[in-house]
Amino acid sequence: MAEAFDASLTAADFAGQPAAERLLGGSIPHALLITGMPGVGKRSLAQLIVRTLLCTGEKKPCGACPACIQLAAGSNPDVFVLRPGEHISPKTRDGSKGISVDDIREAVRLAGEHAYGAGNRVFVIEQAENMNESAQNALLKTLEEPQPGVVFLLLTDMAGMLLSTIRSRCREIQLHLWPDSKVLAVLRAHGVAEATALAAAQAAGGSIGRALAIASDTAWWERRKRLMEDFFGLEKRSDIPLVSADWREQKGEADALFDDLTGMVQTLMLVRYSRADKAQLADYPDAWQRMAQQGDAAAFVRLLDAISQAAMLRQSQVTWQAILEQLMLRFMEEKSKW
Ligand SMILES: [Zn+2]
Repeated sequence: MAEAFDASLTAADFAGQPAAERLLGGSIPHALLITGMPGVGKRSLAQLIVRTLLCTGEKKPCGACPACIQLAAGSNPDVFVLRPGEHISPKTRDGSKGISVDDIREAVRLAGEHAYGAGNRVFVIEQAENMNESAQNALLKTLEEPQPGVVFLLLTDMAGMLLSTIRSRCREIQLHLWPDSKVLAVLRAHGVAEATALAAAQAAGGSIGRALAIASDTAWWERRKRLMEDFFGLEKRSDIPLVSADWREQKGEADALFDDLTGMVQTLMLVRYSRADKAQLADYPDAWQRMAQQGDAAAFVRLLDAISQAAMLRQSQVTWQAILEQLMLRFMEEKSKW
């Protein structure tokens, strides 16, 4: 059975997503494929659609009818959620990590039964790309010959992995990445502190889910604080061997480290070109704040080049510590110019 559905989301939360707005403003077809990058709101949209379909109130979803109350409590018998490793019924629990053909067959069987409530039955298949070919084929006939009152919602960030026959039978609703202003508004609504919200929105690149995850990820903030001190805060060349030795254990996180550094340089660049607010630079040392006022394009390119060079050297024989020392030196040299 389903988990508790978030009762706070409304159609207004999808303003700025044309496909979702059109869908929510009209009638909902029997097979939908919701696509978009991770964290962009696919599950939130699916939950809103389920609440709209099952609600028996006047203005749907009303939040007050028995169906809405059951959904909020996670106990509505007319919604079924399938996702990798979770099974639709005890009968199909086979320990597999994907979405098995047995699960899909069971969903198809349940789709043929009468609804408990006023009419609709909804099947949500999250990470639908985890259905193998036979599972997808088992679903095909049901999508081809819709039964009244049965709706299938397929969610994926890898639509290309679904059979074209599945895709062609669904109406595709593509969600796009969100503007930073929207991401920030959601973070604020969740009570995230302003400085945290600004940095998380910047790092999340338009994914609300990723921004929320970053905002509550203490390891991410610790790494950012260390990067700020050890790369952006370096004062003396003679400190480099000592500081770089502190990162000896982080070799395995090199990709995340370079990604974060790139994001931090991009923040400087966005402020320089008035695409981001300078409040986002509150924790950068003064020299970098000056760079974000006066820096030329070449300065940013030098830094981004240095990071991508370091990432490339990871594949070579050069030692991790030597890569870090070289990169720290490049940051220190750049800082000294401003
Ligand atoms: Zn209702």
